[in-house]
Amino acid sequence: MVKVLVVEDNPLNMELILEILKSRNFVVDTVDDGEKAIKITEKTSYDLILMDIALPGIDGVEATRIIKSMPGYKNVPFVALTAFAMAGDKERLLNEGFTDYISKPLDIQDFIKKMDKYRK
Ligand SMILES: [Mg+2]
Repeated sequence: MVKVLVVEDNPLNMELILEILKSRNFVVDTVDDGEKAIKITEKTSYDLILMDIALPGIDGVEATRIIKSMPGYKNVPFVALTAFAMAGDKERLLNEGFTDYISKPLDIQDFIKKMDKYRK
């Protein structure tokens, strides 16, 4: 059982991500902002976190920094979800501690391929 937390504020993206992850047998929790992500990770442990970068309030980069500093989260993979399609963005996110990067709109086949790497 691989437990995933999805942090995404766009309901349509969330719906699509949730549908795909459930079809691949991931156990999924969802929140729609960075503060809720911090709160839920204080109580629950996850094997993987999908983190939108553009979020209301605390953004995905800052939320990731905070969660990664919590006990038990140092080695959990964080995958950035971002609509930013600028050159150099991937490098910036990898430097911020993200394990991987998925750009939106989602390429469904590519998303499934990336997520399957985290299945046990
Ligand atoms: Mg967003």
